[in-house]
Amino acid sequence: MSPARPPVSGAALARPVPLTLTGSRRKPPRHLADLDLAGRRAALTELGEPPFRAVQLSRHFFARYTANPDEMSDLPRASRAALAGALLPPLLTAERELSCDGGTTRKTLWRGFDGALVESVLMRYPDRVTMCVSSQAGCGMACPFCATGQAGLTRNLSTAEIVAQVVAGARLLAAGQVPGVSPREGLGPPPQAAGPAASSPRADAARVSNVVFMGMGEPLANYANVVAAVRRLTDPVPEGMGISQRSVTVSTVGLVPAIARLAAEDLAVTLAVSLHAPDDELRDTLVPVNRRWRVAEVLAAGWNYAAVTGRRVSIEYALIKDINDQAWRADLLGSLLAGRLAHVNLIPLNPTPGSKWTASRPSAQREFARRLAAHGVPVSVRDTRGREIDGACGQLAASARS
Ligand code: SAH
Repeated sequence: MSPARPPVSGAALARPVPLTLTGSRRKPPRHLADLDLAGRRAALTELGEPPFRAVQLSRHFFARYTANPDEMSDLPRASRAALAGALLPPLLTAERELSCDGGTTRKTLWRGFDGALVESVLMRYPDRVTMCVSSQAGCGMACPFCATGQAGLTRNLSTAEIVAQVVAGARLLAAGQVPGVSPREGLGPPPQAAGPAASSPRADAARVSNVVFMGMGEPLANYANVVAAVRRLTDPVPEGMGISQRSVTVSTVGLVPAIARLAAEDLAVTLAVSLHAPDDELRDTLVPVNRRWRVAEVLAAGWNYAAVTGRRVSIEYALIKDINDQAWRADLLGSLLAGRLAHVNLIPLNPTPGSKWTASRPSAQREFARRLAAHGVPVSVRDTRGREIDGACGQLAASARS
């Protein structure tokens, strides 16, 4: 939901006026990943095609990761291009690709149909491949340490635009274009056979095993499209992509009513709460939506989520030097979380350009973790892959806009 913007004249802008306007009210084109299988069947009937073509097209997209009509030899030649055009329109165009960690971390800057920019990151580990996806172009939550928060919200992504980021990563992997971390750790073929036309995966091919909604945007502020995307990603082929629900993490600033709604969805996804401070005074500045929903309410919503789903809640805490990394804050956090179904993920701050804040010293990090552990709270320090490619949320899009 993009806010109405006042008209601006070119002269008033410091930067050149882009040829395509962002934040337009026009919606991205309809794509089969926006629809469940029943909806896809109905769409094919409307197009005058037999409904079983929905399954064929779905397999091409969700299991073979292709939208190219030339590769759809099971469809009549005469209608291939029209079907692909109607239900598999291109949604995101890769604007820039960056890689590091020997090619095992790949970041893509995508341009939407209206010029909106979003990012996704693929991270290949020995035992898994994680896709970090965006749920919105920009973000309206205005957290001051986050690059995306600085730019404001452009618009929500459609369900298919979210799913397309994961499919793009799966396509790269299946094509053997992402090197393994060690030579002999391929994760095997996709979860279900991709049909007779499937190409055999290369020896080092892997599949996307995990998806985290930790790219641009606040997922729970784009609730319906995010939940539909989670269903598309986790429903079995051909309904969806067949990723395990347990391997999906939805990360939120703490929109309490939406957390309650998510708990009632009957999804076994992990909830991550970006807490960053255990006290309201500091959290009001680090996560401004805290002025609406306080620490106690956010945690209560998290414990309800854990009770309903049986899933451990991940508490995200970016350690910022001399801001939120004091020993007393570690102890306060430990006392809030002790005995709860929770895990703390400490993230050394990745400073955004021009930021007055920096990451905590390693000694402060260790002490913070030690104090949490002393309260019996499981804690890990998140790996900081992709730093040299502007890994911090929103930095790549910010640099492309300037
Ligand atoms: N809006 C959601 C998801 C996107 S951000 C949320 O806030 O949870 C994903 C995670 O990265 C959040 O925990 C966020 O607080 C964190 N993050 C954002 N900018 C960061 C930075 N510069 N350094 C470290 N973590 C950051």
